[in-house]
Amino acid sequence: MSREVWILAEHAGGRPRKITYELLGKARALAEALGSRVTAVALGSGVGALAADLGAHGADRVLLGDAPALGQYTADAYTAALAPLVAAERPFLLLIGSTASGRDLAPRLAARLGAGIVTDCAAVDLDGEDVVATRPVMTRKALARVAFQADVLRIAVVLPHIFPPAAEDRARSYETVPVPVPVERGAARARVVDVTPVARESVPLTEADIIVSGGRGLRGPENFALLHRLADALGAAVGSSRPPVDSGWVPHDYEIGQTGKTVNPQLYIACGISGAPQHLAGMSGARCIVAINRDPQAPIFQVATYGIAGDLFQILPLLTEEVRRLKAAQQG
Ligand SMILES: Cc1cc2nc3c(=O)[nH]c(=O)nc-3n(C[C@H](O)[C@H](O)[C@H](O)COP(=O)(O)OP(=O)(O)OC[C@H]3O[C@@H](n4cnc5c(N)ncnc54)[C@H](O)[C@@H]3O)c2cc1C
Repeated sequence: MSREVWILAEHAGGRPRKITYELLGKARALAEALGSRVTAVALGSGVGALAADLGAHGADRVLLGDAPALGQYTADAYTAALAPLVAAERPFLLLIGSTASGRDLAPRLAARLGAGIVTDCAAVDLDGEDVVATRPVMTRKALARVAFQADVLRIAVVLPHIFPPAAEDRARSYETVPVPVPVERGAARARVVDVTPVARESVPLTEADIIVSGGRGLRGPENFALLHRLADALGAAVGSSRPPVDSGWVPHDYEIGQTGKTVNPQLYIACGISGAPQHLAGMSGARCIVAINRDPQAPIFQVATYGIAGDLFQILPLLTEEVRRLKAAQQG
């Protein structure tokens, strides 16, 4: 087994996604502690241009698996491409993002390779020669520390928005290595026939630094305009608890929680959300939680960093106005 730390680079539109920079940042810190190097694996069709970005953000070596068969993610094709690389070089640790495709791929890869896997990692640390991961469990009510067995292949599936992204240094040197892709087009048992991007004006919820989220307390779809105004002023994304989705006020991709998205923003503003465990499961990892609720006993206040007990219909316009005023003062 080598001492290298590997990451699987996720990308969209010809650029690495934010999670990739976060994985590179963590991988660099671990590799420096291990006295080894960082390898990034980029799979896809036409991925050559990613290498410069990955190198500038901390990869010492970029393995490029470039083939039409990898143009769209499928678990079959990505496993077939990645498994032989990992099996041949046996890195010390492979970091994969806890994204839709990462969560799909990593367990399959681990099963294929007989590797140890820890999912939903909120921390990955070295303890001597051991790797110890910390992951939220029981709808984030507790944190479990999980150690990999020694001498196994280790795969850590890392939550987004936990680790700071790697700094960019265009002067860094790195090596690019094209790797064979033993996957024939059409060999995968599943095939992506269509991708329909969700129309969103802001960044995706899972990548947003700030989220303004609304619940049943909003009373109707028209009142989400209040959230959008605050979100625009803050440069935030808008999310929701489940009732607004179930009631058809907002699309499904707004839902945050156990059956929705897991988010880890710097700031989460919960408006008219009671704080049910199923909602907390998706957002309690936020660095700072601001709750606006007219019921001072609402459970959301137990996890909130700042609580505003009051009517959201009065508070949101005031907050939006104040944010706009502060931003204008900063710019002026
Ligand atoms: C299997 C399962 C999975 C689930 N998954 C999810 C999930 O992924 N995500 C999720 O969110 N839920 C999920 N739920 C639902 C969850 O249990 C709660 O029912 C839901 O989170 C409640 O949403 P809410 O806080 O918006 O509504 P409520 O619990 O009804 O709370 C509304 C809040 O708004 C406040 N309010 C009302 N008017 C105002 C006002 N004018 N100003 C300020 N505050 C006001 C009230 O005081 C109240 O606290 C799931 C449930 C089950 C059974």
